[in-house]
Amino acid sequence: MAKVWVYVEIANGKADATALEILTRARSLDAEVSAVVLGPGATGVASELGRYGATTVYASDDPVYEEYIAQPAAHALHELVVEHGPDVVLFATNYDSRDVAGRLSAKAGAPLMSNASDVTGPSTATTAAFGGQTIVDVKLEGPLKLVLVRPKSFDAEPSDGDAEVISVKAHIPDELKKAKRVERHAEETSGPKLEEASVVIAGGRGLGEAGNFKLLDDLAAVIGNAAVGATRAVVDAGWVPYAYQIGQTGATVKPGIYLAFGISGATQHVVGMKGASKIVAVNKDEDAPIFSFADVGVVGDALKVLPQLIEEVQRRKGGP
Ligand SMILES: Cc1cc2nc3c(=O)[nH]c(=O)nc-3n(C[C@H](O)[C@H](O)[C@H](O)COP(=O)(O)OP(=O)(O)OC[C@H]3O[C@@H](n4cnc5c(N)ncnc54)[C@H](O)[C@@H]3O)c2cc1C
Repeated sequence: MAKVWVYVEIANGKADATALEILTRARSLDAEVSAVVLGPGATGVASELGRYGATTVYASDDPVYEEYIAQPAAHALHELVVEHGPDVVLFATNYDSRDVAGRLSAKAGAPLMSNASDVTGPSTATTAAFGGQTIVDVKLEGPLKLVLVRPKSFDAEPSDGDAEVISVKAHIPDELKKAKRVERHAEETSGPKLEEASVVIAGGRGLGEAGNFKLLDDLAAVIGNAAVGATRAVVDAGWVPYAYQIGQTGATVKPGIYLAFGISGATQHVVGMKGASKIVAVNKDEDAPIFSFADVGVVGDALKVLPQLIEEVQRRKGGP
């Protein structure tokens, strides 16, 4: 039986949410699924990884993996793959995992595919090309394959599975302790995370200037459980931080409702939000491509619609 491994990043004792999505997908494949988790709290999350699909969890609580960036983890993971010979290792597309995957690819001479939107077998995956217009099936060759999977490609669903925990005892040479993490900074945000909010309110260049994003914050506050996102055009313009970006090179969101204000609907943006259950778009151009994805379209000036919408939601909620 094929061996499918999932590399699970851990931060503050919590397993990465995308890795849980990937484990859920992996357990539907005809394969033996294992997880590798390295860093403080690793053994603590092993049973959770078992519930999401791993039957074996290779774990180490050694702080070296938290303290030094990527090199120790890539070294330990390389030793494990040499010893156990998995067919494929799946990684979440996030900063640290990408770093580990690239280093492992170089060490093992293994092909690395990035930006996968599905994993269909131990050697096959799919990705989107041309801004999501074309879905490409990819077959990877070689004894070991590495695949970086996009967040929100699958829903994370626990099962009643359980995992055997195998302790990882890799010796990390001093020359791999070069890039030290001196600080971990969590960006201060109020409200839910973009990827977890049930309502996402996104703004584009049509909002005119950075200050008008305040209207989106105000709408999010009156709606509740809502997060604010943006297009790359406004992130590049410096209106909002990169963490707001939705799309091919940003976050993928699947909220119940996605509200788009002053967004044209470029394919690179749409690929990150088309999974929303309902899409509402406000754009002053009736031919804007976003309208072909929208369940409800309003042809109008976002700067006029937003204050009215805020007022109406407030009124219906019995607000001030
Ligand atoms: C490799 C690559 C990766 C990319 N990745 C991403 C990505 O991850 N995410 C992303 O978003 N983009 C991405 N892009 C950029 C993408 O192609 C678009 O350029 C971008 O999404 C456009 O952003 P926008 O809709 O804010 O701006 P525009 O395309 O300029 O659209 C502005 C819209 O606002 C409307 N408008 C103007 N004034 C008003 C008003 N007062 N009220 C209402 N509507 C108004 C206009 O009619 C227009 O439709 C990527 C591009 C490349 C090449």
